[in-house]
Amino acid sequence: MSKIHILPPHIANQIAAGEVVERPASIVKELLENSIDAGAKRIRVELKDGGKHLIRVTDDGIGLEKEDIDLSVERHATSKIIDEADLNLIGTMGFRGEALSSIGAVSRLSITSRPYDNIEGWQVRVDFGRDKKIVAAGCPSGTKVEVQDLFLEIPARRNFLKRRQTELGHISQIVRTLSVGFPNILFELLSDGREIFRSRPGCHGSQRLWPLAGDKLVLQMLPVKGESMKILVSGYVTPPEEARASSKSFYFFLNQRPINSRLLWKALNQAFRGFTMKNSYPVGALFLEVQPDQVDVNVHPAKQEVRFHDPDVIYRIVYHSVQRALEGIKVIASTFEKTPAGSKETGLSIDQQKLDIFSDTLQVSEAVSGYGEPSSPWQNQKTALTAGTVPQASTDKDHQVQESDGADLWCDFRILGQLAKSYILAEGPHGLVLIDQHAAHEAIIFKRLNKQIAQTDSLNAQPLVFPEVMERNPQDIAKLPEICPILTRLGVVIEPFGHSQIAVRAVPDFLASCSKTSQVASELIDRILNFPEQDAKGLVHDLLASMACHSAIKANHHLELQEMDALIKELVSEQVTHCPHGRPVSQILGFNEIERRFGRKQ
Ligand code: ADP
Ligand code: MG
Repeated sequence: MSKIHILPPHIANQIAAGEVVERPASIVKELLENSIDAGAKRIRVELKDGGKHLIRVTDDGIGLEKEDIDLSVERHATSKIIDEADLNLIGTMGFRGEALSSIGAVSRLSITSRPYDNIEGWQVRVDFGRDKKIVAAGCPSGTKVEVQDLFLEIPARRNFLKRRQTELGHISQIVRTLSVGFPNILFELLSDGREIFRSRPGCHGSQRLWPLAGDKLVLQMLPVKGESMKILVSGYVTPPEEARASSKSFYFFLNQRPINSRLLWKALNQAFRGFTMKNSYPVGALFLEVQPDQVDVNVHPAKQEVRFHDPDVIYRIVYHSVQRALEGIKVIASTFEKTPAGSKETGLSIDQQKLDIFSDTLQVSEAVSGYGEPSSPWQNQKTALTAGTVPQASTDKDHQVQESDGADLWCDFRILGQLAKSYILAEGPHGLVLIDQHAAHEAIIFKRLNKQIAQTDSLNAQPLVFPEVMERNPQDIAKLPEICPILTRLGVVIEPFGHSQIAVRAVPDFLASCSKTSQVASELIDRILNFPEQDAKGLVHDLLASMACHSAIKANHHLELQEMDALIKELVSEQVTHCPHGRPVSQILGFNEIERRFGRKQ
């Protein structure tokens, strides 16, 4: 590595400035980035008290000469850029020359280092920005950075630090994420002497994602691949049925750097549109390789956000690559929530109507249900025809609906059959009725669960014969004491299992036969973690809706006549009109409309 120098003010001023030392995890991130830039093949992170007492990062990288170690703790001291032009061609994780000096200002910092061809090493120490000292040190080749007593002299910031477990959770997440970005480096994380994480260099294929998604889920992932205009996209996504309620389990990497990007999220969501319910997200990661001059990483102090020079190209390649990965998965698009299409939603110029492989299916289903035809005589009734809800009187005298109770209404129904294994078709006194089997069943279960909660304040738990174990990051496990009581009330009993797993011990009886109890529990945890604290009622609604959704009959599932009959009877007795997500459970295509379509009426 070239020598460290202090950046002249005119370059230093062009660098996105901001606080990089927020908490132990941000320090670990900066130190790991330095070790990566130093070409390390093995990096060990050791913590005491969640990093509050000590963070030690040791690497086997190229090390620092005496004069470099001296400069490294100064502001704007870097070996990674020299002039302005370099700012447009950043190929290293760091470039600001600020991390070590900022860390040295808020802790007792020591850096001990030896390049492998030097006999002697050196150590520099700084205590809260004061008393810089350099001494000779006998040490292995590579670099060891120790950060002690973080914020000890700044009580306001020290008090802000969270419990040991919480800080550890954040750090573990950073180490795991970087280990996925740099699969050839061995990362180790130890907390108070205990090993928390050890990466597996050389992992191939989807298994590369195990530190973030767990060993089980990675086996189900679909590969994503694409290339265009010197941009490479690769990665893995879970199939739609494994979607989570939280977007936190998907990761983007740009030239190996973990990043946040609204643009990439939009492309991913758009590609999944029609495959998953609204507000559910895939698990996985996408790796983009872009020429350094095609992207600006100097827009965010912690380098988490980037600016692409040609966002449309990036959007398109990600969108198409993900969509190709999903092709072949047959889903009835019309059973899923439809989001408004078009460039308005994404704010991008791309023509999404053309790109949407489901647009045809959606148009057909809309035509059947009659949306978008304000003049249709049955429009007033379009969502009203469900048990207990008498359709509004039509404006057409011929088809005026008589007052009757819901049960009577359904008495006259004749089941015609099932459409696309997803909708029940029935003939009713006013026309053709379509019932969304999943939405209807979900609405019934949801209503019953609500009743049970109202009566007994909890749902019955049924212990599982074989507890199911799922991977969760330590950050979530640290929050289990808050999550468990809420879930227990809903009949879901979970407990920590090791430092990165959770065991599901019991679920409510109606979910006991569900084959994916750990997935359900995992989704419930996501929902609790993502819900605004003050909205307890909303949270219960959300959790019950999620359980109802999991236990309800799915779309694309064959039903026998008796089953359809039973479902309609339940619909009558529970008197539901909409599923918990707000979708109607039934639609009616009135006789007037049918006649108009066949040219029998104007
Ligand atoms: P930046 O990474 O933005 O250059 P830092 O303050 O993080 O700034 O580090 C300053 C300099 O110290 C780096 O440019 C690099 O030359 C040197 N350095 C820091 N950590 C290491 C390390 N682990 N191994 C070798 N050199 C290092
Ligand atoms: Mg750095």
